[in-house]
Amino acid sequence: MTFSRRDFVKSSVLGAVAAGVGAHTAFPDALAEDSQQGHASKEDSPKRPVIICAHNGYAYTEAAYAFLKSGGDTLEAGIRVVKGPEDDPNDDSVGLGGLPNEEGVVELDSCCMHGPTRRAGSVGGVRNIKNVSMVGRAVMEHTGHVMLVGEGAEKFAVAMGFPRENLLTERSRKIWLLWKEFNSDRDWWGPGMADPHWHPPAPDSKPQADLWRDRIQQLQQRAADLGIEPEFQLAAVHRVLFPPTGTIHCSVLNDKGEMSGITTTSGLAFKLPGRCGDSPIIGAGCYTDQDIGSAGATGAGEENIKVAGAHTIVENMRHGMSPQEAAMDALKRIVRNYNGDMTKLRYMDMTYYALRKDGAYACVCLWEGYSPGNPHKFTVHDGTLRSEVTTPLLKGYSQDWPPFPPIPDELKKDSYYLK
Ligand code: ASP
Repeated sequence: MTFSRRDFVKSSVLGAVAAGVGAHTAFPDALAEDSQQGHASKEDSPKRPVIICAHNGYAYTEAAYAFLKSGGDTLEAGIRVVKGPEDDPNDDSVGLGGLPNEEGVVELDSCCMHGPTRRAGSVGGVRNIKNVSMVGRAVMEHTGHVMLVGEGAEKFAVAMGFPRENLLTERSRKIWLLWKEFNSDRDWWGPGMADPHWHPPAPDSKPQADLWRDRIQQLQQRAADLGIEPEFQLAAVHRVLFPPTGTIHCSVLNDKGEMSGITTTSGLAFKLPGRCGDSPIIGAGCYTDQDIGSAGATGAGEENIKVAGAHTIVENMRHGMSPQEAAMDALKRIVRNYNGDMTKLRYMDMTYYALRKDGAYACVCLWEGYSPGNPHKFTVHDGTLRSEVTTPLLKGYSQDWPPFPPIPDELKKDSYYLK
């Protein structure tokens, strides 16, 4: 979806009013008002139990729901959902196979809250342990602390019986190597001049679009040389050009009204070692208050930390907002932090999950999706397992960061897992 400058200026004022920020500040493109009426929320006749989670939890939610129905604990049910992607080597956003940091080391983050006992646990920057969701819970259950990080968290996990294992799958290692070589014009990573595939730098005079087409093709060739499967090569190039985020959050409510929430991630691909996003931060990546509800987040971690998103949502519900209003308000705080500056906001995205104690829920996102026809979705189970489209705050689609030209369409064919 595109916007004219006139639409932008007009909606700046309307949007600013809607967001409660000074009308002199630019607010981004038209609020997606029609879609805010609630197709991705259920607030009228809520049911219990309910599980809501990120889209990548779909395959694991049916079994977790059955466990919940049979009287299982809400946090254990949440862990049964998020453990699926943690164990899946092909999900490169979480647990085993997660894309590594800039040094090629996988570092995982997670936090959880158990409503019935009003406890919390968290781990950040954990290496060599796959199921950090369970390590976070172990911090909650077996220590007097709430959060452990880095080496201490790993040692604690081993003491608790979690196996140490190499989390870097061959595929993730090769993507990291491709990224390393791509960003390496001043060191010795990548093939040298003696290599038959070595290319001299392109002349400055070449048009930008051609330059990028060449680079993408060279990267694809290099992906092939590194042994990345043909059908995954362009997806690997995409991850190199636009380092992805990815996470799973899950909020759970049982029929007695007990609630828990959990979030787990490998965080931002190729991050600085030691970087923790929002996912291990109680109040940002996840927050549950047994009296009110549970909320969580996936997306731009740095932005979410600054608005304490999950806590903000639960507090908003405490003060009477519906789950959808509560979560939209948190998104508007992110928009406000940039004074509605579209040139910046278009490069970030954020999804919030909100579940109220009566079973009402909502899932909202900053933008409609990554591209037309690819809306953000989430998973819900309230007796029926389904995917629902997330409700956007803003009309339009987020852009990849850094702002390189798009991958040409003709190169996209036969590729899978391109977002
Ligand atoms: N929020 C996660 C982080 O910043 C990433 C994501 O959700 O995609 O680490």
